[in-house]
Amino acid sequence: MLEIIRRTVQEVNSAPDLQHALSVIVRRGREIICADVCTVYLTEQETGEHVLRATEGLAADSVGHVRFGLYEGLVGLVSERAEPVNLDDAPSHPRYRYISETGEQRFHGFLGVPIIQHRKVLGVLVVRQQESRRFDEAEVTLLVTLAAQLAGAIAHADISGGIVVEDQQHQPISRIIRGRPGAPGVAVGTLVVAYERAHLDEVPDAAVADIDVEVAHFEKVVAGVRVELQEMKDRFDPSLKEERVLFDAYLMMLDGDSLVEGTITRIQTGNWASGALRDTIQEHATMFESMEDSYLRERSSDIRDLGRRILLRLQSGSPRARVFPENTILVGEDLTATHLAEVPGDRLVGVISAKGSTASHVAILSKALGLPAVMGVADLPVRHLEGKEVIIDGYRGQVYLSPSKVVRNQFERLATEEAELSKSLGELRDAPAVTTDGQKMPMYINAGLLADISPSLESGAEGVGLYRTEIPFMIRESFPGEDSQVKIYRQVLEAFSPRPVVIRSLDIGGDKMLPYFPIHEENPFLGWRGIRVTLDHPEIFITQLRAMLKASVGLSNLHVMLPMVTSVDEVDEAMILLHRAYEELLDEGEKVTFPKLGVMIEVPSAVYQADLLARRVDFLSIGTNDLTQYLLAVDRNNAAVADLYDSLHPAMVRAVLQVTAAAQEVGTPVGVCGELAGDPLGAILLVAMGVDSLSMSSGSLSRVKKTICGFSRVEANGLLEEALKQEDPESIRELLRTAMEEKGLGGLVRAGI
Ligand code: PEP
Ligand code: MG
Repeated sequence: MLEIIRRTVQEVNSAPDLQHALSVIVRRGREIICADVCTVYLTEQETGEHVLRATEGLAADSVGHVRFGLYEGLVGLVSERAEPVNLDDAPSHPRYRYISETGEQRFHGFLGVPIIQHRKVLGVLVVRQQESRRFDEAEVTLLVTLAAQLAGAIAHADISGGIVVEDQQHQPISRIIRGRPGAPGVAVGTLVVAYERAHLDEVPDAAVADIDVEVAHFEKVVAGVRVELQEMKDRFDPSLKEERVLFDAYLMMLDGDSLVEGTITRIQTGNWASGALRDTIQEHATMFESMEDSYLRERSSDIRDLGRRILLRLQSGSPRARVFPENTILVGEDLTATHLAEVPGDRLVGVISAKGSTASHVAILSKALGLPAVMGVADLPVRHLEGKEVIIDGYRGQVYLSPSKVVRNQFERLATEEAELSKSLGELRDAPAVTTDGQKMPMYINAGLLADISPSLESGAEGVGLYRTEIPFMIRESFPGEDSQVKIYRQVLEAFSPRPVVIRSLDIGGDKMLPYFPIHEENPFLGWRGIRVTLDHPEIFITQLRAMLKASVGLSNLHVMLPMVTSVDEVDEAMILLHRAYEELLDEGEKVTFPKLGVMIEVPSAVYQADLLARRVDFLSIGTNDLTQYLLAVDRNNAAVADLYDSLHPAMVRAVLQVTAAAQEVGTPVGVCGELAGDPLGAILLVAMGVDSLSMSSGSLSRVKKTICGFSRVEANGLLEEALKQEDPESIRELLRTAMEEKGLGGLVRAGI
């Protein structure tokens, strides 16, 4: 049974569109349950009606015509209860509604299950039986499993246009897709899909200018692959029969009509060769995967391998430069810093990532670059989005796909207002952040890429509160040596001198991997990361500490910071190594000075030992990104739980307050360097807590400055007092948002001024 479900899932996932996916479900549903009828109803979001969309067993012409109101009939009952309804005699149920078009009076047994995605009912899947019978538990679970599979396919198709929603005048309504706010701002532009070139499944659709040229190019590539395979086969000793047979099989696949012809037919519909190849390979692979014979089933991986081979040649054979339109909005399954770097800076206006959340590193980078970003847009049909018009609202975390003219006009106005706002914020560049009753807040920036430095300098920052060293480590092919690290650190220390620069020791693990130092773990965020790695590899740690110390000779603005500290002995051990590096360099005749040492508070154990940690070091810095993740037990990169990730959670407010109070009691300065510091709403509370500095992405600096300048400490204290009485993040947000609106500062936390 598991096998049938597995195959059904595969068929659904590779269906070219929603209607095909629905047909697969009703066909398989009827077969698996041995029912007389299987029907799927989808709920139209605009009208709330459940519309019959596919059937196996009812009159085919009822598809698209039979409709139930939101709470009407048994279908409405399933949707209302959002749970299965299992009846042995449906017509005798008070909610039963007879529909003549389908001829369904003959059926008695009824089982309906809701199709739910992200808590929302998208439709109802129904099986019927002529005889009067209750479906057994195994059948109910099976149908629930099928419905769960269908939910993902529907959500995808809904966004990509599989279900066309029209307004009263039959104009398509633009689709709003919800994600999480990644970086503030709004942008209107054209989508460009970022994808891993070697991954066939990620290849996006793209229109071709000249179909004949594209077909000729594809045929040439196939001919090249054929020669390559033949050569590979010839290189094998004739005694290695099995290996040679594999190449014969590949060659046969290429010579047979369906693969090449199938792709050409698809190119002729206007898709480029790579996109057409993706669909053809997928179709063939699925066909093999659904075969009973296990040997034939395995052939699907050969098809995929052959597909990858052709794809590589297609790409290397035609290194056409990617076209980035003027207002490029980059979209990808899981965007990285390198994807962003591929787009010319003056063309990129926004970022959308299907994975990740507010605290993902690509969101942080977007903020630094001043680009609006929406993260964790689950169900985004990324590969069908190339060239689509889109609007993004980074404040609310929303994407408007193919916006209507009205929506577009409205957002163009907001984007103009944003530009005005940025201009007026720019004027704050050299002004300090001071509350209306005179309390000054030092404002630092977070940096990591060398490219970060110039916008950071221009932003009027008073120093660097967090320099993430893992990024220079990530963009290399091996660990950088002492000398190259000295160069990197010297650049940032010098650029900001005499202002302080906090350089954090290597914080790899979790979502930050070095390509040349792979760490394979079941649960990487609770595994070997941050200080745990560097203490286990003193040779890496000492090299880094030596480089930092050497880089700061004559500057004296170096602060060293330790990430992911969970216990005091980690600090003691790190301190010993820092002293060792320092002594070594003195012995070597370097004129190094001993730096200030700090600890990041990013895990609950550090919150509870903040006093002990504060006694050992010169400063504390609260990393609210990880602290939120570990305190709330929510993966900061997981879009499925992104709604739960909130640094303004009441538990976070209390934890940050507790750390601040502990540090103040010991007399150790405490700053905040997580994203909470760069959120105007968070900054008000942090001012009230009396933190000593805020460090944030350079793009957030002026918004936070303007916020701090708009409140008095007394007002901030009042808001903190109120916030501490709230029981959920939304109430805290509402409280702070209202305060911002009352001050005329609402435009800093939402679109429009
Ligand atoms: C944090 O965790 O809050 C932090 C600033 O570090 P990173 O985002 O680099 O993990
Ligand atoms: Mg962290």
